[in-house]
Amino acid sequence: MNGWRLEHSYATLPALFHARVMPTHVARPELVVLNRPLARHLGLDVEALASPEGAAMFAGNALPPGAQPLAQAYAGHQFGHFTALGDGRAILLGEQITPGGERVDVQLKGAGPTPYSRRGDGRAATGPMLRELIVGEAMHALGIPTSRALAVAATGEPVYRERPLPGAVLTRIAASHLRVGTFEWAAAHRDADALRALADYTVQRHYPDLAGAAQPYLALFEAIAERQAALVARWQLVGFIHGVMNTDNMSIAGETIDYGPCAFMDVYDPDTVFSSIDADGRYAYGNQPAIAQWNLARLGEALLPLIDTDRARGVEAATAVLARFADRIGAHWMAGMRAKLGLFTEEAGDERLARDLLTWMHDTRADYTNTFRMFASLGGPAARAGIDPVFGLWHRAWQARLARQPQDGVEVAALAQRSSPAVIPRNHRVEEALAAAEQGDLAPLTRLLAALAAPYDHKRSDDALAEPPVGGDGTYRTFCGT
Ligand code: AMP
Ligand code: MG
Repeated sequence: MNGWRLEHSYATLPALFHARVMPTHVARPELVVLNRPLARHLGLDVEALASPEGAAMFAGNALPPGAQPLAQAYAGHQFGHFTALGDGRAILLGEQITPGGERVDVQLKGAGPTPYSRRGDGRAATGPMLRELIVGEAMHALGIPTSRALAVAATGEPVYRERPLPGAVLTRIAASHLRVGTFEWAAAHRDADALRALADYTVQRHYPDLAGAAQPYLALFEAIAERQAALVARWQLVGFIHGVMNTDNMSIAGETIDYGPCAFMDVYDPDTVFSSIDADGRYAYGNQPAIAQWNLARLGEALLPLIDTDRARGVEAATAVLARFADRIGAHWMAGMRAKLGLFTEEAGDERLARDLLTWMHDTRADYTNTFRMFASLGGPAARAGIDPVFGLWHRAWQARLARQPQDGVEVAALAQRSSPAVIPRNHRVEEALAAAEQGDLAPLTRLLAALAAPYDHKRSDDALAEPPVGGDGTYRTFCGT
């Protein structure tokens, strides 16, 4: 009905992994945003979803046909410390089978308490849910694997944080919500059958090519490491800071999930931290590759009993995978960097060239996105070299490097255009859109989403939205937004 085709493969996992729970009714459901292109991609009837019945569904007051709501159980290392968690405010309705044959989770976030809510209220505020929608759509348009928001519905009820805030439910679409923490949960229960069932399920759902591998669980670990390396390299290349890279927020499918205090960096600085809860900078921009590796080490520990019956041999094999992680991520990063600099060929000195540019950016507090945006225009870098002697030196080395490849300047600029965005969700613009939305004015949000939908369109991009904030954003803070 209305295009819904829900299945429930996750529910076939052992009972350890889930708890049945219904969304809690809310006072006055109202649709704030419906992601129409995503709805169409999922094969859903857009007009039906845009109705009051759709709003009731997106707020959790009604269920789509075939839904079997449940909360998922998982554990996680939060800021380095192991904790038993689970969906405290998210409820999985099922897996939609798209017209293209994909299987994706449909989850309500902020739909009320679950058996895993601990002291939480199970609810979410409109601001952070719209923020998740904005940043997820931006990531998607950038071509970075991500969960996406199908809708944000207001509940008509307040949520109580530091002050009362309008409540909302976000409908989240993801390849799945399997996390490193899901494996940690099985391992912590010392339930070998459950762990094996989870690993087999993961292979079947996300890594079907591994089904016949000689050592399928080691191969799974390596394949997950590869997807994480590709993902985090993409984050680094666009200046995205996740903010809470706890193991429970690290997707096994290799998508960006759990948008909390995330933000894009303006001024280039590896120490950049925006999250108010990350006082020590554990999840700073420059730490993200090392943290991804740390998280994978936790996954490796959880998988050990499956990797080899001999513990020492298992440790050795898993350690070898981890040891290759830095090179993996470095290779993805370098490939992306070459493209951003308009380099079609490979030379040993390319990494040095890229690092020297970053050093200059750091020293001069240059805007990360707009520095790379310069390479997307034919005369941009030369103009900058004309007014900045230090950049001028680097520019000469870059010109000499370009002269050693066959492509001309037009091709160089075109490659740079495809590889560096003209617009990212700048923090001050996101805040502006959220503040207006809270007052009932959705125009800035709509304008921002339109620009973010075409980030590589250097000609048509909305210039006001590409501007960094006046005076930098050194004091910007994001809050977990629970
Ligand atoms: P996060 O940092 O958003 O990944 O959340 C960490 C854990 O806290 C997850 O288990 C969430 O489900 C849970 N959680 C966050 N906010 C709430 C809330 N308002 N009510 C219940 N549980 C929550
Ligand atoms: Mg989480």
